[in-house]
Amino acid sequence: MNARKSLFCGIDLGTTNSCIAVFDESGARVLELDGQVTMPSVVAWKDDQWLVGQAARNHLAVSPKDAVSSIKRKMDDPGYRIKLGGESLSPIDVSAKILSALVRGAEQQLDCVIDKAVITVPAWFQEQQRQATLEAGRQAGLEVLQIVNEPTAAAIAHERISLDDGAEERWLVYDLGGGTFDVSLLNVSAASYEVLASEGNTFLGGDDFDHRLMERFVTHLRDQHNIDAAADILVKARLQLLAEHTKIQLSNNTHVHLLEPIVVGDQSIMLDLKLTRDDFEGMIDDLIDSTLEKVAQVMTDVNVGPESVDRLLLVGGSTRIPLVGDKLKQRFGIDAESWLDADLSVATGACIRAAICCGQVFDRSVVDICSHSLGVAAMGEEDYKEMDVLGSDISNAAHPLTFVPLIRRNTRLPANFMRTFYKAHDQQCGAKIPIYQGEHSNTRHNNFIGEFFVEFSQNQSENLDVRFRYDLNGTIKITVIEGDNGTEREYTMNLSDSAEENSELHTFDDSTMALAEASAENESVVTNFLIEKISQKLELSEEPVPEIAKLLERYQRLLGAEETDDELDKLEEQLYDWVESE
Ligand code: AMP
Repeated sequence: MNARKSLFCGIDLGTTNSCIAVFDESGARVLELDGQVTMPSVVAWKDDQWLVGQAARNHLAVSPKDAVSSIKRKMDDPGYRIKLGGESLSPIDVSAKILSALVRGAEQQLDCVIDKAVITVPAWFQEQQRQATLEAGRQAGLEVLQIVNEPTAAAIAHERISLDDGAEERWLVYDLGGGTFDVSLLNVSAASYEVLASEGNTFLGGDDFDHRLMERFVTHLRDQHNIDAAADILVKARLQLLAEHTKIQLSNNTHVHLLEPIVVGDQSIMLDLKLTRDDFEGMIDDLIDSTLEKVAQVMTDVNVGPESVDRLLLVGGSTRIPLVGDKLKQRFGIDAESWLDADLSVATGACIRAAICCGQVFDRSVVDICSHSLGVAAMGEEDYKEMDVLGSDISNAAHPLTFVPLIRRNTRLPANFMRTFYKAHDQQCGAKIPIYQGEHSNTRHNNFIGEFFVEFSQNQSENLDVRFRYDLNGTIKITVIEGDNGTEREYTMNLSDSAEENSELHTFDDSTMALAEASAENESVVTNFLIEKISQKLELSEEPVPEIAKLLERYQRLLGAEETDDELDKLEEQLYDWVESE
């Protein structure tokens, strides 16, 4: 008997639809399952069986309580549970069923075994959501080779856009799907894709546009027929499908006339409504504008203007709404391009990435970034503020409140960073180092993602240097260095391992833990050195002027990465040139 061939795949695990691409002799190609290239991300329980995909979506329309959709929007909530088929399912469990259905469907069709995958996530996902996706992949029996950001995967899929050696283009990838929005700015050359900055909103997409239309239907039914359609779960599910259908029709037509029979309780009525594309655009205008604010933020982060963008790539089903392309054209003065089907480029790029991971193709290298700052909680300003205001003793708090960002958003990964902390008191023999992700100065507003327990040696030094390393797979490594010539200890945390596993690895007597105090100094020795030098040259006594700060920010991002000597040299030259010219 012939052993079944083994293939690997790329999976776009979407809010509304998911998609799988496999790699074979002809390269990466998206598979049709049940005659469709995308599969609805819906799971249902019917007649003692699990349904996934279109069948589950059909069941959702007639029995909404037995089905779940848009589970990706719950990946940030580890405590969320949905009761289905007599089980209590977490977002990871539901996502694993979707991944499993895609993989088993592909295996059956191709008579092969698929056990390795690259899975994509929104660039704006936090570490916790990434790890939940990784866990879902494992539960589906997959070895997850990598978790890749959706806009980055979409850029990789555009490998046919060839560039001459030495040429470089700047691409803006605008990705608006069913439930999430991402935008990334990349430098692309014949040798690499380098992500410069990402922004996004994990709660914005086609589902929200459908919701606006549904609200319109509900108001219309209330005004015309005096019924509350939103109170009936079945009618609501029906209107939801109708809203999506209407939205899609309005991408291709300038007006629609809806004539839909609706049964509410024992009343049978007709939804008779005329809508124009302008009406619909008016309903979603503020939402599209909010995506453009994110686009503007990305441009500001990199400190470039719209004229510097060479290509606008549209990704995600919702970019078929004409208003999206129109508004982008107004802003950038160029037409958006769709080289590939907007729904398929993410899975295709993920599959090419899987092929690269497995050594099957050698493509441009990929340099991605972390989209949220990563840091630690340490005693500092926020704690003192709270003590002043409340007069309270916060020493009982689980963690200190001051967020000390160590690897800032948009830093290239893997990143290294060092910072000095002071011991809370001389006799302190260990410390808890809680890791948070977010942008707020108070840890209460950021996401807790894990903690390290570090032991100190008995030497009397007051300060310790902590070196952090964070990579694309979510591995955080910290090295604690005590005193000038002190001992080094290394601790590693794989965020994909459970919290218990991590704490077991580094068990430390909780009762002796004290909080370390953060030093505001020593952000980065090299950067400080540069600031000082430039400030001296310009005879600045205080903060560097904004232009220098911007250049330094970029410098600092590059500092986080490895093998960037050339780029650092280039940037340093740019800095000095700029100083000279001033
Ligand atoms: P994705 O997550 O990329 O599969 O995108 C799914 C979203 O795209 C859903 O909200 C769809 O309703 C939406 N979509 C698909 N085709 C169109 C279209 N022609 N016009 C507007 N929205 C669309």
